[in-house]
Amino acid sequence: MPRNHLIPPPSHSCSFLICSDSLSPLLAISNTSSTYPLVNRIQILLSTLNSIPFRITFRWVPSHRGMRRNENIYATSKSATHLPRIQPHILPTKFDLTLSILHTISKLWTSHWQSQKSSNKLVTLKPFPIPWASSHQPHRRHEICLTHLRIRHTGLTHPHLLSHPSPLSCNLCGTDTPLPVKHIFSCPHLTSHRKAHQIHYSHLAALDDNFLNLPSIFSYLQSINYLSRI
Ligand SMILES: [Zn+2]
Repeated sequence: MPRNHLIPPPSHSCSFLICSDSLSPLLAISNTSSTYPLVNRIQILLSTLNSIPFRITFRWVPSHRGMRRNENIYATSKSATHLPRIQPHILPTKFDLTLSILHTISKLWTSHWQSQKSSNKLVTLKPFPIPWASSHQPHRRHEICLTHLRIRHTGLTHPHLLSHPSPLSCNLCGTDTPLPVKHIFSCPHLTSHRKAHQIHYSHLAALDDNFLNLPSIFSYLQSINYLSRI
């Protein structure tokens, strides 16, 4: 920033001396063909003051001249004016930057989500962490039931974590192996029920967001008396 100092004259004089360490404004004022509005106003004011008479003298005081670091900064800033001008239309807009940030966050979130595949059973069913419209059901009980089935953590398959001493098995198949969620959709003794309700034999396909017959899952579970136990 240029520093200008107005040195007042003695009381009996009508002359002023204005010292500035910035040469460019002084050259601009001395240029009578300048079209810069502020310079024109100063020139008109000086002309008016001279007619009073009122003498004003400008003097350049190069206070920073010879200071190496200051000269370097000046030379660097001046050299930047010779660089190719960046066209405004190739600069990214606010919308572009917002989109890029959202894309990056989504990418990182998806990567973190999929890295939990071994510990999070829902990842197998839902590979991308995006909202599913089917997660919102008209009935609260159906919504809870669907969520329990999707995370494969139900009252039927994990009663031993709450009250039952051991995991339950499929009483239709008569095996001693713990009952997983996928068996509810593939048990051979429930085939007729699944066909009647048009339920896919794969639990991953049946519980997917895009499964067209998703509401039939609740009637299927009701028909085999599983709905209230999920
Ligand atoms: Zn079975």
